[in-house]
Amino acid sequence: DAIRPQPGILDIALYEGGKAHVAGMTNVVKLSSNENPFGPSDRAKEAFQRSVHSLHRYPSTDHASLREAIAEVHGLDAGRVICGVGSDEIITFLCQAYAGPKDEVVFTEHGFLMYRISALAVGATPVEVPERERTTDVDAILAACNRRTKLVFIANPNNPTGTMISLADIERLADGLPRQAILVLDGAYAEYVEGYDGGLAILEARTNVVMTRTFSKIYGLGGLRIGWGYGPRAIIDVLNRIRGPFNLSSTQLEAAEAAVRDQDFVNRCRAENARMRHWLSEALAELGVPSDTSMANFVLARFSSEDEAVACDAFLQQQGLIVRRVAGYKLPHCLRITVGDEASCRRVAHAVAQFKGVK
Ligand code: PMP
Repeated sequence: DAIRPQPGILDIALYEGGKAHVAGMTNVVKLSSNENPFGPSDRAKEAFQRSVHSLHRYPSTDHASLREAIAEVHGLDAGRVICGVGSDEIITFLCQAYAGPKDEVVFTEHGFLMYRISALAVGATPVEVPERERTTDVDAILAACNRRTKLVFIANPNNPTGTMISLADIERLADGLPRQAILVLDGAYAEYVEGYDGGLAILEARTNVVMTRTFSKIYGLGGLRIGWGYGPRAIIDVLNRIRGPFNLSSTQLEAAEAAVRDQDFVNRCRAENARMRHWLSEALAELGVPSDTSMANFVLARFSSEDEAVACDAFLQQQGLIVRRVAGYKLPHCLRITVGDEASCRRVAHAVAQFKGVK
């Protein structure tokens, strides 16, 4: 008999990342992990290369320089920023620090899979709340909360639906939660929304709201694994106690700092993403493949059945286009397609047209 792990661990389904290759095929475009098709900014790449000169040194333990850069760019208090190995690690810290056996961690039906994994990993009970038309339903979340609720995760915009709720709804959620519960606003895709700061004003006015952000999406640094969180001083202080002192390498810290200081790059990527996202969703709709209005860097294409989605996924792969099946998110009839550069978007639309038999 195998030695048994902690309760809950064996309930975790292994996370499958987006595919990157098709056997025997070159000229493949990966549109399965919501990555920035333009990669990181040149300034981030230069900083990455410069970091080679200090590889023999331990990195900073307090991340002061990166936190100050993030704080300056976003108008925040650097003392309330925490940096981690992707925003995944901030999600993990929150669960480790605030949830355990008999506690409940709430998230939505089509919410990011890490919420469930992190909750189960600490022995807490995941509570999945239905959405309304693939959109976060604040009333359903509030109805699902009780004395055992410790954390409520919502991504805004959400992955894989791309939909978003209003600041007024977020406020209503924050104010309606039980006293012992923390609302986590996952802003992995926040930079893609023109004029949206992730709900900072809501956070600043409350003691029960935390925000998470990432360098993996618009900053094009998914391979380097850097994310950050912002919240009330008391909560950030708690998270720092369980954070390993050297959780981020000097390379991660330097590249992220250069990246966040290059907001021109971010603005260009946001504009180009919006242009091609609009183009792609219109092109797919004309082919009879509708999607909800996405505010992020992907489109959730809805097919008429699971069979059709599976067949289209296979057809796209034959054309060297890798998109994401989202069956694990209970959307078996959908394919999530990352908004690539213009040529990739045109290839996707062309391939879906061929699949649909439209000449
Ligand atoms: N939150 C959401 C909603 C995501 O889609 C992702 C990436 N798939 C993450 C968090 C985690 O990203 P990372 O750990 O790379 O910051």
